[in-house]
Amino acid sequence: MKLSSERISSLCLPAARQVAVKVVDETGSTNADLLAALESLASPVLLVAHAQTAGRGRAGRSWLSAPDKSLTFSLAWPFSRPLHALVGLPLAAGVALAEALAMFNVTVGLKWPNDVLHEGKKLAGILIETAAGGSGQSWAVIGIGINMALDAELMARIDRPVANIPWLAELDRDMLMATLLNRLAEAMEQFEREGLGGFVARWNALHAYAGKPVVILDNGKMVHEGIAVGIDEIGRFLLDGGAGRIAVMAGDVSLRLSER
Ligand code: ATP
Repeated sequence: MKLSSERISSLCLPAARQVAVKVVDETGSTNADLLAALESLASPVLLVAHAQTAGRGRAGRSWLSAPDKSLTFSLAWPFSRPLHALVGLPLAAGVALAEALAMFNVTVGLKWPNDVLHEGKKLAGILIETAAGGSGQSWAVIGIGINMALDAELMARIDRPVANIPWLAELDRDMLMATLLNRLAEAMEQFEREGLGGFVARWNALHAYAGKPVVILDNGKMVHEGIAVGIDEIGRFLLDGGAGRIAVMAGDVSLRLSER
């Protein structure tokens, strides 16, 4: 069933009513499209694609999806905060996404910094790309991909455990998209007012690896190991290692469960 921008808009709650909703059949990357259009935007835009052919992950990695078997979209949102004040935004977006999925009884956990896990496997990814606006303002493009009914062949092409929730693909997709947008728009407004502060306890309550032995990898090489604690007030990942508590900045490091 095709998504309808009019119907999604009609289901928006106050925080999301300022968002212009656009649905396309196919594009390379919804994030790339919105980033390219930022100069002409004055207010938030949601771009949803039935098919995304060149989905992006962090650091040039790719996000794989299949037409209508995944939900892929990006939300462009303006902030009256400078770029450096958006550092914790992926964590706030993760909280919003997890809370919206919980409204459909999908239980998920968050893996720092930007993954949404279901039964320990990756169900959704979040990629935030930012651009400086004028006079201390900035834009964020929040890209989200959610697996719904990927086939075994596509899942096998992904180099890590992948979660799929086929019944999500059977839901009223406009309603699903509007619910996600409502929660995300509320979160963006809260982040604009308060920064990460209002999300830290919520993120920690959703933390998938709390209390588990983990490693931090930099280019595949272990740089820290310890017991996962959670995030601090500025979104650093905390782990308790042999020499005490360590706080890790997001950068391009990767978090994994320890195999020991
Ligand atoms: P890391 O876990 O190392 O921090 P990451 O979570 O930041 O990496 P992202 O950049 O968010 O990774 O996402 C890209 C990665 O996600 C790909 O390299 C691939 O391993 C995995 N991936 C790609 N497509 C999917 C998908 N549809 N479902 C689950 N995982 C995927």
